[in-house]
Amino acid sequence: MRKGKIKVTSDNIFPVIKKFLYSDHEIFLREIISNAVDATQKLNTLIQRGEVVQQVNQKPIEVLVDKDKKTLTVRDFGIGMTEDEVLKYLNQIALSSAEEFLEKYKDDANAIIGHFGLGFFSSFMVSKKVEVLTRSYQKDSEAVVWECEGDPKFKLNEAEREHVGTDVIMHIDDENSEFLNESKIQELLDKYCKFLPIPIAFGNKKEWKEDKEVETDEPNIINNTNPAWKQQPADLKDEDYKAFYRELYPAMMDEPMFHIHLNVDYPFNLTGILYFPKIRQNIDMQKNKIQLYSNQVFVTDSVEGIVPEFLTLLHGVIDSPDIPLNISRSFLQSDSNVKKISGHITKKVADKLIELFKNDRKLYEEKWDDLKVFVEYGMMTEEKFYERMSDYLLLKNVDGKYFTIEEYKEIIKENQTNKDKQLIYLYSSDKDAQFTHIRNTQDKGYDVLLMDGQLDTHFLNHMETKLEDSRFVRVDADVAEKLIEKEHEAESKLEPKAQENVKQLFETQLPKESTYFVRTEALSENSMPVMITQDEFMRRMKDMSQLSGGMYGNLPDSYALILNTNHPLIGQLSEDLAGKIGDEISEIDEDVTSINQEINEKEAANKDKKDEEVPQEEKDALEALKKSLSERNKAKTEKLTSYGKDAKLIKQLIDLALLSNNMLKGESLDQFVKRSIDMIEK
Ligand code: ADP
Repeated sequence: MRKGKIKVTSDNIFPVIKKFLYSDHEIFLREIISNAVDATQKLNTLIQRGEVVQQVNQKPIEVLVDKDKKTLTVRDFGIGMTEDEVLKYLNQIALSSAEEFLEKYKDDANAIIGHFGLGFFSSFMVSKKVEVLTRSYQKDSEAVVWECEGDPKFKLNEAEREHVGTDVIMHIDDENSEFLNESKIQELLDKYCKFLPIPIAFGNKKEWKEDKEVETDEPNIINNTNPAWKQQPADLKDEDYKAFYRELYPAMMDEPMFHIHLNVDYPFNLTGILYFPKIRQNIDMQKNKIQLYSNQVFVTDSVEGIVPEFLTLLHGVIDSPDIPLNISRSFLQSDSNVKKISGHITKKVADKLIELFKNDRKLYEEKWDDLKVFVEYGMMTEEKFYERMSDYLLLKNVDGKYFTIEEYKEIIKENQTNKDKQLIYLYSSDKDAQFTHIRNTQDKGYDVLLMDGQLDTHFLNHMETKLEDSRFVRVDADVAEKLIEKEHEAESKLEPKAQENVKQLFETQLPKESTYFVRTEALSENSMPVMITQDEFMRRMKDMSQLSGGMYGNLPDSYALILNTNHPLIGQLSEDLAGKIGDEISEIDEDVTSINQEINEKEAANKDKKDEEVPQEEKDALEALKKSLSERNKAKTEKLTSYGKDAKLIKQLIDLALLSNNMLKGESLDQFVKRSIDMIEK
């Protein structure tokens, strides 16, 4: 028997392992099983080369739980270790400036484990004692058992082992007793070992017999040793890729749209399969599903910072021994291999989309609605991706036709260039709610894009910075005639005075729910009499503010109520008004004009004088004039109000405008219906 002390430059590495690696305890199992896989693969290579003379047993690696003895054992039939190797490998931990490093990375178990090659020693995170029973494949080697109780002392004894290979027997300590729980172990195996290249058995398969679950003789293999991403693309059918997707995400309902099989061996090593999922409403739910592997060993499923942000929307597997997996996240982000890999993936993803566009535009269009969020996200956040994809971005119009930007420009160039030579892209964010606006816009011969995706508001802001002399304007931002400002202005059939009067008439009956500004416009008599629009700039501010969590607080909605002064109904309203209270109104108007004139004259006369130079009587006179002006104005409003409040037509026209914007709700809607019936009966 040999006794000795493990060589570490820091004496108390074990308490350190236990204490600092607390959060990531569970990775010990991955480390121990990875060693078993390595040992098995090494032996397999030697067998292939005919270098093994001993009798070997090519059985799966076994994971065994013994609740009575409180042990968890990982048993392999791999290469094993000789006594000298045990001393050499298990006892020497290269610790360089250990304490300093531990202090720095104390929250990141992976960093420490990777840095020190502590793989095997991570077993001490959960064990009060670890035994290693091993027998080397080498000729005439005897089995030995190494024992260590979590301090720098160890024992090494001769032992018995029928086959070549190694048992790592972990005596689980009381705080970590969950690792004696079979379902816990099953969960860890599923997470870390699902695609390891050597079969791993955990107990035996179970079967239902006469309503009871019974164990069979067949080992329960928990892993798929030859996952799809390790196979040749030529050997796989579409079905195989879909089946692999289900294997990765058993709980996912939707099938992926398509996949990319990554297979690179120079200048770095990378394999993997990435899937484009159908992206549903909630983007965040779909993020971060890519699993990162290193030689089929699971490392993490949080690839944020490792791949560009928009790629985290993809699903699938990336496997690369070149990503320094055990190093901390911040280090990863600046690693040049990681950067190259990111760049490569971005390129591959764009290539795949472009290939699809070129080979099967119809299919590309069919998938576009689901792809769009992803492409937009990528184009907004990765300049490289923008450059690659800008010719393959599709715009969809409200009639369901798709165009590239260049194609679309050709279509709208003629008709949708405004007087400042800007190209105006008209869009709708809601086909139903903005139906009337879309119809009016189309009647003008304009084309309307459908921008109802979750990123569209952001995206069109981005596009405006990219496309020269171009602007996006929503169809309800103004009346159709004004959406794209051309040189000539249409003439109004109403005199300015009459326009002002109808305007004030409508102001007496505005809905109270939001702010409305009434405006008159000379539009075609075929256009609606009254329309409601929302200023593009104000609305975008509000949208952006909502998207970014209310940066400007809750901005109130404000709308324009536009009266078409060339519409017969507005003409009729104006005539009726003139007939009924026209004289009284003009009388007031005349008063107002003359009072205004007097005020102006008085103010002009005193304009160069200082306040104290103006005589008091004059000041009083001016004050009196202003007072009577406001009284006259008030009188006018009162007249219009008392006239307007019984004019059902006004309320009806406003309600119709609200209705065609999908804005008439609740009690107002109810009143509208009743009023309509009333009006029909008469
Ligand atoms: P690493 O695996 O990173 O080299 P470890 O501390 O996990 O570091 O293991 C140290 C060495 O111990 C391994 O390189 C290997 O030579 C040996 N070893 C560990 N586990 C086994 C095993 N199950 N069978 C054979 N050799 C092993």
